[in-house]
Amino acid sequence: MSVERRVRWWDVRGMAHTTLTGRCPACHAESAFEGAYRVREVCGACGVRFERDEGSFLGALAVAYGFTILVLLALLAWLLPRFGLFDGLGLTLIAVAVVTVPVVYRPAKAWWLWWLWAAGFVKRDDEVAEQPQR
Ligand SMILES: [Zn+2]
Repeated sequence: MSVERRVRWWDVRGMAHTTLTGRCPACHAESAFEGAYRVREVCGACGVRFERDEGSFLGALAVAYGFTILVLLALLAWLLPRFGLFDGLGLTLIAVAVVTVPVVYRPAKAWWLWWLWAAGFVKRDDEVAEQPQR
């Protein structure tokens, strides 16, 4: 099955679809996830291999942590003018961070998968074999 690579950096719709649904960025036919956070090895519909190199999803953690920091900064920007440095501010921030990271990790991982696909790192095994050897 041939999957036309529709890589467009401005393809916001495809990026949003993969990020929000967790579906394969190449074909959108199947979920790229098995379980809450685990990405399948290969898409059952189009055959792209999602994780070609071990650790290629570490960037998703950085994205999730970065987004969580933005949430915490926004919360601080809202809390500090209203309540100042109140007792329990640290615990509040920790509690929000503990909840936010797992909530945003799956969409962050799906977005990271879309980015890997758009950058050409996610492809079928036969596409890799067709590349000229250096
Ligand atoms: Zn697919």
